[in-house]
Amino acid sequence: MSSFVAGRFRLEDVYDQLNCGLVMLDRDLNILLWNAWMARHSRVPASAAINADFAALFAGQVTPALLRALDNTLSYGLPSLLSSALHRSPLPLYPHHPGGQGEGAQRMAQSVVLTPIDNPDGQRLCLMQVTDASNSVKREKMLLSHSEVLKRQVGTDGLTGIPNRRYFDENYTRALQRVQEEGGTLSLFMIDVDYFKQYNDLYGHGGGDRVLKRVAETLRTHLQRPDDVLARYGGEEFILLVRNLQPQQAAELGEALRQAVYQLAEPHDKSLVERRLTISVGVCTRELQDDNDGRQLLEAADAALYRAKLGGRNKVVSIT
Ligand code: GH3
Ligand code: MG
Ligand code: MG
Repeated sequence: MSSFVAGRFRLEDVYDQLNCGLVMLDRDLNILLWNAWMARHSRVPASAAINADFAALFAGQVTPALLRALDNTLSYGLPSLLSSALHRSPLPLYPHHPGGQGEGAQRMAQSVVLTPIDNPDGQRLCLMQVTDASNSVKREKMLLSHSEVLKRQVGTDGLTGIPNRRYFDENYTRALQRVQEEGGTLSLFMIDVDYFKQYNDLYGHGGGDRVLKRVAETLRTHLQRPDDVLARYGGEEFILLVRNLQPQQAAELGEALRQAVYQLAEPHDKSLVERRLTISVGVCTRELQDDNDGRQLLEAADAALYRAKLGGRNKVVSIT
């Protein structure tokens, strides 16, 4: 039984007002219905489409997946859905720009639904519904790029823009595994700003933030290899991980970092070292054998830093 009131409106008007493509095909892929949406987006008017052979009309422009799905629907009565995620653009349809030529435009992202329809003569037909999926494809791309940005933000320190402790911790586990598998050494640097509490007291928290950024930037420019990891480990404490240095080289790198910050010549009138901003560096270099060595390396670098502080600050202590 029909589900519409006969005589009060014309079905053709409904088809042509639909905001999706409607096509009816018979067993031989002859086109029996081609609504206005299809004409607009395929640039083939109904007068040229009706009774034409669908496969011939779009020879080479329809994807094999769509032709296979049509065959399944017409031969076996199987409905099917070609989602835009897997089948971006089964038909040669283009966005419609009223008044414009639209030539050379990219094919529209589509979602296609095929439904078998049995006609009164017992012949099977296929109803094809096509919707414009450009918006959901765009939304999906936007969400993907947002999640990339978020992932990066989660691992980045908000003040200095370098990796944060969370990023470091994740990376540290991986670095330990690599050294255990491939051999070589791992050097862990603990870097701490001297008398930073006094710096804040004298220059204010804003002044403290400003020099923290400068120190982070200075340390960052001293990284030598792409897999060196520098992170902000705590308030005014930084951590650096470098592979395959000899203890002597680690001490030299620590010394280069100390000097670089010293040469910024940032005034610090409350420092007991000198009247400028300085850092202390503790570094430990080791070959790693077992899983506990990671924790021990951290403790050893921390102990080296402590000795640098005790030894008068603005110093590098390197141990193995
Ligand atoms: P030491 O030479 O022994 O390292 O002394 P210190 O004063 O640097 O060490 P302490 O750990 O006592 O002080 C660290 C200070 O760093 C305390 C805290 O107020 C400050 N701090 C921590 N995080 C931030 C931050 O994000 N911005 C600013 N401006 N200050 C911070
Ligand atoms: Mg400090
Ligand atoms: Mg500290």
